[in-house]
Amino acid sequence: MKGKGIALNPGHLGTVGAIGINPEITEEYFAKMQVSFLKSILDAASLKNEIIVQSGNDLTALGRQAAGYDMFLSFHFNAAVKKEIYSCFLVGTKTRQTSIDFGMKLMQNLQIKTDCKLYNNDGIMRVTKVSVLNSANRTNCPIVGLIESEFIDDEISKDDFTIKIQKKTIVIAETIINHFRFRGF
Ligand SMILES: [Zn+2]
Repeated sequence: MKGKGIALNPGHLGTVGAIGINPEITEEYFAKMQVSFLKSILDAASLKNEIIVQSGNDLTALGRQAAGYDMFLSFHFNAAVKKEIYSCFLVGTKTRQTSIDFGMKLMQNLQIKTDCKLYNNDGIMRVTKVSVLNSANRTNCPIVGLIESEFIDDEISKDDFTIKIQKKTIVIAETIINHFRFRGF
């Protein structure tokens, strides 16, 4: 690890994100829960990491905070009401290959270890207009991505969704730890 470590961004902190049919299941609640659980695992593995948050709705400024970090990840859960449930790693169209390589590895691990369906087979979703990704990609941060490890299901209870998210978070943590261990830190 050469830089400031891993920047973890819980999506929509302080704002309203997606919401499922079950009104207890909100994106911002689970993003916050996922990031704090992930942080505790990374801390235990002595991997440098920080939670970074947006101020207001300025997502371009949030992306710029990626500068100097080794990895910038933003955590989200969209509501897939009446649609297919899948996991994906969103990258900007001008992302580096290092982001795509990491994203593919992560999605593969999620599929193997949590038996989820991946978006478009490899789980990589290329998006043009996500300002946080675009501004983060303009920094020197080598790995930038937005993780939708699970979509909010129509029917699921809050407890069942919590268990699902915890399993996903452990796999995300393992993938991050392996990524840096193989490169030395
Ligand atoms: Zn979101």
